[in-house]
Amino acid sequence: MEITFTGKRALVTGAGKGIGRATALALVRCGAKVTALTRTQADLDSLLQECPSISPLCVDVSDWGAVHSALQDVGPVDLLVNNAAQASLQPFLEVTPQQFDQSFNVNVKAVLHVSQIVAAGMKARGSGGSIVNVSSQASQRALKDHTVYCTTKAALDMLTKVMALELGPHQIRVNSVNPTVVMTEMGRLGWSDPDKAQAMTARIPLGHFAEVDDVVNSILFLLSDLSSMSSGVTLPVDGGFLAC
Ligand code: NAP
Repeated sequence: MEITFTGKRALVTGAGKGIGRATALALVRCGAKVTALTRTQADLDSLLQECPSISPLCVDVSDWGAVHSALQDVGPVDLLVNNAAQASLQPFLEVTPQQFDQSFNVNVKAVLHVSQIVAAGMKARGSGGSIVNVSSQASQRALKDHTVYCTTKAALDMLTKVMALELGPHQIRVNSVNPTVVMTEMGRLGWSDPDKAQAMTARIPLGHFAEVDDVVNSILFLLSDLSSMSSGVTLPVDGGFLAC
């Protein structure tokens, strides 16, 4: 079965690096017209060199006003991938209000905001659509030093479900992917230490971390009509970690 998005318009947040960048490029290969949003211009410059058909959007998703203005010019969106997130790791007793607020602003509040704008357009056009939120296995398991990250992703899972409930009648599906560790820049932050990595892979039945393409393929599936009856799903991409 081949996935095609010919004639569809997609928006991917956090598309400068890692999973978001690979998702934007995969969507182009599947025929979608893609807007790539991230906050570092140099990443957009290199993405455009790699794929000139992508439309770049340089904005920090946590800036409510800037996002509101920037998305006015994007035009209709059929497929949305809320991927931008930050991981700020510290022991529970050392979490600061600033770390808490900044992470919730990016990982949760910005997903709400971008999705409100995009879904309002889908509803007004009556065209339906598909939204995928990039969550984590950390939404459902406690991980040391991950107080803030785990709680943002737990909130994101419930946001996904309530969005599925309220947007379903407009034929807008909302799902999440929940990956295990992927060795992107973010993955290296928490899991470069071989002892930590070994302790984590020991808890994954398949015995290894995920690759970027494992996550991208699940995102494409949930965006596509191949999953047309799935909404409100939190899909593990975790080698069985959450089953244990
Ligand atoms: P990454 O390599 O660090 O890439 C994240 C991208 O998001 C970067 O381009 C980053 O831009 C952008 N971004 C971050 N904050 C932003 C903001 N406020 N506004 C706009 N763009 C912003 O991370 P990744 O590993 O690909 O992670 C992608 C998603 O997968 C995240 O939702 C993450 O929580 C989730 N995830 C990752 C793992 C993992 O182990 N890697 C596991 C489970 C889930 P800058 O570089 O300019 O900040």
